[in-house]
Amino acid sequence: MPSSDALLGFAADNPYFQAGFGLLGVGAAMTLARTGSIWAATALRRRMLVSLEIDNRDRAYEWFLAWMAHRTNPNIPTRAARWIRSHELSVATMIERRPNGSSSVFFQLVAGPGTHWFKYKGAWMQVKRQRETRSMMGGQQTGMSVPWETVTLTTLSRDRTLFPQLLAEARDLGMRGQEGKLVIHTAWGIEWRPFGKPRRKRPLKSVVLESGLGEKIEQDIKSFLGRRQWYADRGVPYRRAYLLHGPPGSGKTSFIQALAGSLSYDICIVNLSERGLADDKLNHLLSNVPERSFVLIEDIDAAFNKRVQTTADGYQSSITFSGFLNALDGVASGEERIVFMTTNHVDKLDPALIRPGRVDFMALVDDASSQQARTLFENFYSGIDLPVDEFARLAHQVEEVVQKNQEQGRKVSMAALQGHFIRNPANEAVSLLGDLFHA
Ligand code: ADP
Repeated sequence: MPSSDALLGFAADNPYFQAGFGLLGVGAAMTLARTGSIWAATALRRRMLVSLEIDNRDRAYEWFLAWMAHRTNPNIPTRAARWIRSHELSVATMIERRPNGSSSVFFQLVAGPGTHWFKYKGAWMQVKRQRETRSMMGGQQTGMSVPWETVTLTTLSRDRTLFPQLLAEARDLGMRGQEGKLVIHTAWGIEWRPFGKPRRKRPLKSVVLESGLGEKIEQDIKSFLGRRQWYADRGVPYRRAYLLHGPPGSGKTSFIQALAGSLSYDICIVNLSERGLADDKLNHLLSNVPERSFVLIEDIDAAFNKRVQTTADGYQSSITFSGFLNALDGVASGEERIVFMTTNHVDKLDPALIRPGRVDFMALVDDASSQQARTLFENFYSGIDLPVDEFARLAHQVEEVVQKNQEQGRKVSMAALQGHFIRNPANEAVSLLGDLFHA
């Protein structure tokens, strides 16, 4: 066996070996240098740059894009609207519908997928909008799917404090349109998303319920909201469920929406007979309700007429009764949950659903009583050009007509009265009132 000294001697004397060894060394050194420089660049990046990722499941995502678009508006004095020179733009079309039925359409240029730059408070920011085409986010309401997307904001580390400021500005801008408005969310796959434009809040008083009922519900919910600690101390899940039942057009939904508005709550609407809604999805949705929101489940009887609902196209909705109860009971968490349910047929509901603990407050919202009809009449015609005593006489007559019809077992819904009052001047409204009643 050659000794190690002999081997070294051979390597030193052999020119081919020397050249090979030299190349190997250079190669290794280069690899090392390359790895080193990648590592150094990464380290530098890590040390000097800071990134923030927002994905399109987060509300900040739309706020941010809208905020960026807003900064390109020529009416807004900003020197920093440079991203508009980007080569990748997307268009966001907005339709504004006014209460009088007219509407206008306008376009907003938002940063499209790709890389953009802009300056914010003196700092350069890079915005990378990326689309993940392989996975899609489903929308149950619309039947559409949208790709997952992210925007990544990158800036120098020393400017990291600008991120929260920028996000707060974007949020304030996004929320400005919602101030004093009611936001309705619907289910998009397993996420909640705002549906349509925020609506003008409806004054609570404009929904005329049987004397004292509206106040009673309002009082109940306010007292619930004031007892968070009471629930926590006793380890009781902090939730409350209301069931409003009664014939259609009596104001159940309108009242819930007005109440949400008056308490500055949003509404999350679940449609139990919606295609594709399964027990686990419902459970997830009910356990992930946005803050300060009521959950509104309408026409709950419809979902359980049959065990498995089949829609016109043969699609089966797979909410089961026990799945629904589970979702309602939810996990015992400290999170607040306020659920409103409505039905036109309380008699069709399974007693297990309406037992105390599941439904804490149940109330009948019925067809118009004489008092309700009178108040609705007064609300509609107050301020019209009629002598005071004539107005009072008409209002009294409304009450009498409803009273008489009721004695004969005939009814009218508040919705029908509303339509009648919209169509007719006060005098005719009263003289034609009798035609509205049904057995
Ligand atoms: P429900 O949910 O009981 O079927 P809605 O709240 O959808 O009834 O009411 C339908 C329409 O009738 C709405 O436009 C609403 O303004 C009107 N309406 C119904 N009930 C009342 C009420 N009690 N007071 C005022 N308006 C009412």
